[in-house]
Amino acid sequence: MLSHQLNTPITYLKGVGPQKAKILEEELSIKTYADLIEYFPFRYIDRTQFYKIKDLKNSLAEIQIVGVITEIRMVSQRRGKRLVASFEDQTGQMELVWFKKQKWIRENLKINAPYVIFGKLNFFNGQFSMIHPEMELYKEFKKDFNVKLQPVYSSTEKLTKNNLGNRFFNRMLKQLFTELQSPFQEILPQNIVEELKLISPSKAYFNIHFPQSNELLSKAQFRLKWEEFFFIQLQLVRKNLFHKHKIKSFKFKQIGDYFNTFYNNILPFELTNAQKKVLKQIRNDLGRTAHMNRLLQGDVGSGKTIVGFMSMLIALDNGFQTCMMAPTEILAKQHYQTIAEYCDQLGISISLLTGSTTAKQRKDIHQNLENGNLHILVGTHALIEDKVKFHNLGFAIIDEQHRFGVAQRAKLWKKNDLPPNVLVMTATPIPRTLAMSLYGDLDISVIDELPPGRKTVKTVHRYDANRLKVFQFLKNEISKGRQVYIVYPLIEESENFDYKDLMDGYESISREFPKPNYQISIVYGKMKPEDKAAEMQRFVNGETQIMVATTVIEVGVNIPNASVMVIESAERFGLSQLHQLRGRVGRGAEQSYCILMTGHKLSDDAKTRLQTMTQTNDGFQIAEVDLKLRDSGDLMGTQQSGLLNLKIADVVKDSSILESARHHAIRLLKKDPNLEKPEHTLLKKEFIKLTQDKFKWNYIS
Ligand code: ADP
Ligand code: MG
Repeated sequence: MLSHQLNTPITYLKGVGPQKAKILEEELSIKTYADLIEYFPFRYIDRTQFYKIKDLKNSLAEIQIVGVITEIRMVSQRRGKRLVASFEDQTGQMELVWFKKQKWIRENLKINAPYVIFGKLNFFNGQFSMIHPEMELYKEFKKDFNVKLQPVYSSTEKLTKNNLGNRFFNRMLKQLFTELQSPFQEILPQNIVEELKLISPSKAYFNIHFPQSNELLSKAQFRLKWEEFFFIQLQLVRKNLFHKHKIKSFKFKQIGDYFNTFYNNILPFELTNAQKKVLKQIRNDLGRTAHMNRLLQGDVGSGKTIVGFMSMLIALDNGFQTCMMAPTEILAKQHYQTIAEYCDQLGISISLLTGSTTAKQRKDIHQNLENGNLHILVGTHALIEDKVKFHNLGFAIIDEQHRFGVAQRAKLWKKNDLPPNVLVMTATPIPRTLAMSLYGDLDISVIDELPPGRKTVKTVHRYDANRLKVFQFLKNEISKGRQVYIVYPLIEESENFDYKDLMDGYESISREFPKPNYQISIVYGKMKPEDKAAEMQRFVNGETQIMVATTVIEVGVNIPNASVMVIESAERFGLSQLHQLRGRVGRGAEQSYCILMTGHKLSDDAKTRLQTMTQTNDGFQIAEVDLKLRDSGDLMGTQQSGLLNLKIADVVKDSSILESARHHAIRLLKKDPNLEKPEHTLLKKEFIKLTQDKFKWNYIS
């Protein structure tokens, strides 16, 4: 981007006082003009389309209508009052409704002046209405930068509460663009700009916030996404091609007693060939001075943990401490329990550090870590707090890393003079080509084989209408001593709604499975972590037979006795999520089942997803299908993979842009490895600036 003006603190912008600035910084890390400009909309609403009232249909999502208010009145209702306006165009009449801010609205609405209203349509008592519509006088609407595609910025609870929503961002950005004096320099080399027909940065930044047409918007998106990937690829490729072996870490020269004793006398099963292969790769890495930074992929249940543990033993054999970090307390505890058993037999000291570790235990742990008496520390984020100091951390495992932010991973680095060797374990199967270009700096190992004797989870699709049969099946399984998960979807945009879904479900299940014969646990996102953990624990202990939950149970929980996974509204889940959930069962010796519940109305993509699930258990195959489907954007709340903190690009949807960026990065660096050519001066400057920006870049350092 490169302009001094863009470094201006956001408080200098007209309309942003200290209070707003504080919220912007706290919630979105927006501190400067540049930060605001790079706060990109996450979607756009087409505002070129107007509806006539007579054409309204029940199913329409968000729409806009031009018309006038003819009358406003207060209507009493059971609780409080609602403000209702009659709204008309030439073709018909509808109602606008407000439950809040009624006084202000009443005083400010103009009767018989043309308005553009915008919002979701309701159909009630034979009449259409819009609740809390967005509205603007038609003449203002027309003046408005000619906005046709209206940007939508993601928001947080706090932002919304403080009225820092779309309108605010719109106003601020308008102000910003008015103040800026030709701010954006072209930093990309001319040949690339020409070859890819990129629009200028000024045009791109403007159109991303104020799209002048569909065409300009997609050009703006292409340029900004490409640029974002390009700088990441420059960094990755540079590391990989030229510097890979320059970063040093501890070298573990020998395989010693811990490893050998465990392998020969304690390991309760034969490793699979895939596990052996991966362990060998890790051993090789650890035997070198070069820093190990390895990603271990393996489907759920493929046995990553034991491989991780045995790698830890190599570190211990060489006198180093190790740690294992998990994304949730429950997972950390589970790892701890599994590993502690082995450690006992080997005489290795191990502790668990999480949010609920008491102050006294904590003090002990800190002390023993620093004096080197503690060999293995398992825990949550608590591990990377500054107070936690290791005597000599040589090796770190990060489990299910997509839950960890970039900055968190980087914090481990600061625990030593040299960075510890790192093994990242994930069950999220990323297709290999994508993984290569994402993790240019990571080496990749794959466990592509399940331990023997695993029965594949039988997966079926059932319609809601057959619910009673499904319940009967659950009862049969429970009577055999099995446990059951029932999972409800969670959509970020409407937490309350989901909560209601979950609670309704919980009630009907409580009715169907009454006490005292049945005990039910319930876990959802908004619960206090302690309560969540306690409920999970009851289920783990077998005190409850049914676990009703939102997707909070998605990751890594291991309860071998749970043999049935029921997924409600399965059409609302993404494929990889479904696969993850299914991975919670099939961990014991018993035949396990996954039941996908849906209504009758299903989109084509939803059908493909359900079919894929019932046809295959192979995570990588599922990932490939997922990749193809994600383009269609029919999923609600599609998650960014979370692997990188990207501002605009999506590693999955934009994979072809990623490939192009990678290709050009390689070509450029081959010609000019240190960016010394005059035509790369600005590029280099920006590159250096970005690499110094810790938050954005540390994940690859
Ligand atoms: P992941 O973390 O990859 O999902 P886990 O490491 O939790 O998988 O392993 C799942 C289960 O399989 C554990 O109970 C583990 O003890 C068991 N297991 C791992 N490797 C083997 C193996 N080679 N043979 C038999 N069981 C295994
Ligand atoms: Mg695991």
